[in-house]
Amino acid sequence: MAVVDREGLVVTANASLSTLLGARAGTLPGKNAADLVDLASDARTWHAYREVLRGRQARLRFTRRLKHPDGHSLWVQVTVAPLSPQEPAVLLSVTDISARRELQARLRHLQMHDPVTRLPNRALFFERLSAALEAEAYEEGGTGRIGLCYLDLDGFKAVNDTLGHRVGDRLLAAVAERLTRCADEAGYTRAATPLVARLGGDEFALLVEDSTGTDQVADLAESVLKALQAPFDLSGQRLSLSASIGVVERRATGTTATGLMQAADTTLYWAKADGKGRWTLFDPERNAHRMTRQALSSTLRAAVDRGEFALEYQPLVGMEDGGVRGVEALVRWHHPQFGTLTPNRFIGLAEEDGSIVQLGRWVLATACRQARRWQLDHPDAPPIFVSVNVAVRQVWDSDLVADVAEILAETGLAPHLLQLELTESAVMGSAGRPLQALQSLSDMGVRIAIDDFGTGYSNLAYLSRLPVSVLKLDGSFVRGFQYEAPDGGAQGGEGSAAQAGAADEVIVEALIQLAHRLGLTVTAECVETASQASRLRGIGCDTGQGWLYSRPVAPDRISALLTKACAQA
Ligand code: C2E
Ligand code: MG
Ligand code: MG
Repeated sequence: MAVVDREGLVVTANASLSTLLGARAGTLPGKNAADLVDLASDARTWHAYREVLRGRQARLRFTRRLKHPDGHSLWVQVTVAPLSPQEPAVLLSVTDISARRELQARLRHLQMHDPVTRLPNRALFFERLSAALEAEAYEEGGTGRIGLCYLDLDGFKAVNDTLGHRVGDRLLAAVAERLTRCADEAGYTRAATPLVARLGGDEFALLVEDSTGTDQVADLAESVLKALQAPFDLSGQRLSLSASIGVVERRATGTTATGLMQAADTTLYWAKADGKGRWTLFDPERNAHRMTRQALSSTLRAAVDRGEFALEYQPLVGMEDGGVRGVEALVRWHHPQFGTLTPNRFIGLAEEDGSIVQLGRWVLATACRQARRWQLDHPDAPPIFVSVNVAVRQVWDSDLVADVAEILAETGLAPHLLQLELTESAVMGSAGRPLQALQSLSDMGVRIAIDDFGTGYSNLAYLSRLPVSVLKLDGSFVRGFQYEAPDGGAQGGEGSAAQAGAADEVIVEALIQLAHRLGLTVTAECVETASQASRLRGIGCDTGQGWLYSRPVAPDRISALLTKACAQA
C-alpha cells in the first residue's frame, strides 16, 4: 500500500509494495504513483483517477498487467480511495492476483479443450465461430465468407466396441494430429490457419475464416480424406479408417452459428447416405425439399382445422353414351406459403403422422355433403355418385364404418351414391377387422372400388372374394393404347411401341372379360385421347376418367355439367 497526495506523488509506501514492484526499499516516496501501476495507459482510468484525487469520485478499481524489473510479468488489482473525507490524500492498494489469473486461464483452457486430442472443444469452437461470423460480417478487408468442414469417422463405434476405449482414444488423437497437419498445410497459402476442433464423439470440424469460395473448402475436405487414407499404427494395431464430410461455404452476413451447423449436419448426413468415405457439398435445393417435407408435416394437422383443404371433382363417364355417372373427389391443399399442393405431396406424410384420419373424415363429409347438394339442386338430372379415396390407415386406425354411417345420416346421401376407393395393397391380405369393415360398408350399400388396379398383385380371383364391386384400371395400362394397332395385329415392326400397345390391349381385354364374369365393373383412369376411349369402349370398359372428358374441377363446374345434361335430356 502507499499513501498518495493530491498531486499524485507517493508520500509513504510499505515494504510489501516495494517487493511487489521490485523497487529498492525506501525509493518509492516522491515518485509519481501513476507511473508505478501504469495508470495512464487508458484514458478512462486516467480520468477516473484524477477525479478521485480531486475528491470528486469515491473510488477506483482496475486490473493491470505489470512488468517486474526481473523480467516476469504479474497481474495486479489496484484500488484508489480517499484516506478519509478530511485528509488531502488517497490510499493506493495493489494486490498481486497473478496466481488467481493463471488458475482462471488454466481452467478456461481445460474448459475449452478436449483432453483426449488436446483440440479446442465444442464450446471454444462455437465461441470462435460466433466471433468469426461477427468479424466477417462487419469488418472491411476480409472476404466476408466462411467455410466449414464437418467430419464424422465412419465405423468408429466398431473400433471402440471391439478394441476398447483406450485404442479408440488413441485413434482419435492420431486423427486429430492428421487434421491439424492438413489445417497447417492449408494455412501456408493463406493468411490464417483453419481452426480444428473436436465437437464430441468422433465428430470434428475445420473452420475456414475468410474463405475465398467453395473450391478452397472442398480442397481442404479432399486433403483431409487423403490424409486419413493411410492406415493408423497404434502400438502394434494397424487400423484403416474413412470419414464422411459435410462441406458448407457461404457469406457470413445473414448466417448464424446454429444455421451453419444445421446445414453442415444435414450435409454430413447426405455424405453418409451417399455412401460414406466422401465429402458432400451443401445443396440448397436438396435442403429445400427436406425443409418442405418437414414444414408440411409440422403444419398438416392444424391446416385441417384452419380449412386450408379443398376438394376438386373429376367426372367418371359412361363409355357408351358419354354421360356423367359420378365424380371422384380429389383433395387439394391451399398452403399459405407453398401455394396449391397436389395430394402426392402430402397424403404420404399425413399417413405417416396419422393426420390422414382427421383429413380423411373431412374429405368424406365434404364430398358426401356436396353430392347431396348436387342432387337437391338438380332434381331432374339422374343423381351422380361420389367416389372418395380412402387410405389404409383410415381402415385400420379409425372407425370408418361408424364415420360413414354417421356422415350418410347427417347429409342424407343414399349409400349407393357413395363409392370408396382403396388400393389393392390396402385390401390384400386383409382379414379380421379391416375385412369386417369392408363387409359392413358393402352391406350398407356403399360400393368399394380397387384404385390403381394392375400396379400391385392383380389377383382377380382373390379380389372377387372380397366385397369389391369396381376395378379402376391404372393409367399405365391405358397409356399403352395411344398407338394405332398395326394391320394384322402383332405383325408390326418387332419391339415397336405399337406391338407393345397391342399386347396391352389383349391383356386388358381379357382382364375386363374376367372382371365382368366375376361381377365387377371396370373404370379406366387417365383417358386422354379419343382413340384410347374408342378402343377401351371396344373391349368392353364400362366407365372412363381422364383429361379427355375433364380435368378435376371445382364443384360449380360439375353443377354446370349437370344443368347441361338436363337440357339435353
Ligand atoms: P388417384 O385416386 O388414382 O386419382 C387420379 C389421379 O390421376 C388424380 O391426381 C388425377 O388428377 C389424375 N388424372 C386424372 N385424369 C388424368 C389424365 O387423363 N392424365 C393424367 N396424367 N392424370 C390424370 P391427383 O389429384 O394428383 O391425385 C393423386 C392421388 O392422390 C390419387 O390418385 C389418390 O390416390 C390420392 N388422393 C387424392 N385425394 C385423396 C384423398 O382425399 N384421400 C386420400 N387418401 N388420397 C387421395
Ligand atoms: Mg382414386
Ligand atoms: Mg387411381
